[in-house]
Amino acid sequence: MRSIEHWIDGKPAEPLSGRTASVWNPATGQPQATVPLAGSAEVDTAVAAAAQAWHSWRETSLTARTKVLFAFRDLVERHTDDLARMITAEHGKVLDDARGEVTRGREVIDFACGIPQLLKGSYSDQVSTAVDSYTFRQSLGVCAGITPFNFPVMVPMWMHPIAIACGNTFILKPSERDPSPSNLIAELYAEAGLPAGVFNVVHGDKEAVDRLLDHPDIAAVSFVGSTPVARYVHQRASASGKRVQALGGAKNHAVVLPDADLADAARQITAAAYGSAGQRCMAISAVVAVGSAADELVALLTEQARRVRVGPGDAESSEMGPVITAEARDRITGYVTRAAEAGVSLVVDGRETPTRDGFFVGPTLFDTVSTDAEVYRDEVFGPVLVVVRADSFDDAVRIVNASEYGNGVALFTGSGAAVRRFTRAVTVGMVGVNVPVPVPMAYHSFGGWKNSLFGDTHVHGPEGVNFYTRGKVVTTRWPSGSPSAVSLSFPTTS
Ligand code: NAD
Repeated sequence: MRSIEHWIDGKPAEPLSGRTASVWNPATGQPQATVPLAGSAEVDTAVAAAAQAWHSWRETSLTARTKVLFAFRDLVERHTDDLARMITAEHGKVLDDARGEVTRGREVIDFACGIPQLLKGSYSDQVSTAVDSYTFRQSLGVCAGITPFNFPVMVPMWMHPIAIACGNTFILKPSERDPSPSNLIAELYAEAGLPAGVFNVVHGDKEAVDRLLDHPDIAAVSFVGSTPVARYVHQRASASGKRVQALGGAKNHAVVLPDADLADAARQITAAAYGSAGQRCMAISAVVAVGSAADELVALLTEQARRVRVGPGDAESSEMGPVITAEARDRITGYVTRAAEAGVSLVVDGRETPTRDGFFVGPTLFDTVSTDAEVYRDEVFGPVLVVVRADSFDDAVRIVNASEYGNGVALFTGSGAAVRRFTRAVTVGMVGVNVPVPVPMAYHSFGGWKNSLFGDTHVHGPEGVNFYTRGKVVTTRWPSGSPSAVSLSFPTTS
């Protein structure tokens, strides 16, 4: 069985804690590797290496930093297939989806390559006689990223290219369920010329996370994962004085108005609900069908859900792979069973997917679901789509806004006026108009509202640059001529 190592100070580092976990192949249901679960000793070693490396990395010129980022960007592009195969082997998603993940992650590196432009300050000449002012931004120090299993390459890339471009050093604690791609990323950074200690990978679970949250030499923590852990990370890291952004879970709605192209909406929603077996934070998991749209839409969704080809992620014919673990499969099918027993109308039953050895659940569709139902309220995080029927546009907006989550939402309509009302009224951070998964491009920032984000800064794009830097404003005076008299009054401009 393959043993995975940490990556600290530019090289693989042997585990010290003695604790390990199995990494499964979700398509076969078999363990394929062991991952070490770090204790304080490994975290402390990584923080010391990153703190040491920061002294020179923060002084490295923008030109030199950019050179490394361009080289890294090209290496990631060249290794897209290797990274995708690693994702599929440990996460289970189909290969094409995994390639898409790598591409969307690489786009953040593209953005970070423009760091000289992004870090430009501002200058005001002659704010007072012989006085000028300018601003600039500086790095924070050692930053940590704690990431979920569902995008083992892309979500860490929301963080580390920007943190590093801004002059910080970085410790990644990836999900222990699909840890291998992070080690290849570390090797590619080294090959690109990144100095030792600037990017480190420490594998682990809560024990490693807690040490990162408490460590006095870590300046900032970026977290992406489930809402309860995001809330906990935000509270604990804030209490130890760190800057924190913690992105949590989601229940993303698609509102479909009667004037929408229903066939197109059904296709888009099917892809967004069942792609990656519903394990995307921007997956559509609830449809709000308004008025007369409902019957036809449910018929189309039913037909589409039945057509999804479920199978191993590395098989050409598969459109949807397994879910991440046996526990995830049982949790998801538990939701389906309880909802069905409670009388919720089960239109397509994913539990009926032919039993395979791996952790498979098929596309599942519920209709006429009440907003009180557990399967509607909770983030199921699997291929389960529920349809809620709404009487009117206002009713639909009320349903969306009553959700505790506010990550993504999509509106399907042909009406510009409805779009304008909707985009202004919804309490959701990312809105799609006839776009089911409105993940912003790398040069915009990604983040939800309400229980989908704790902290006030979204990831990547301009907000990412702000998160990983702090601003300074300098006021300069170069007097010439005769000395001025002493004045103890508060200075004003002249
Ligand atoms: P998770 O919260 O279980 O784990 C996320 C990270 O936290 C992992 O690195 C894990 O090791 C660590 N962790 C887990 N439990 C912990 C604890 N008790 N204390 C400290 N650390 C802990 O999430 P997951 O199952 O890996 O990922 C799925 C979740 O992530 C879903 O809820 C999904 O919506 C969310 N997600 C959100 C976004 C977003 O942008 N908002 C993006 C991707 C995933």
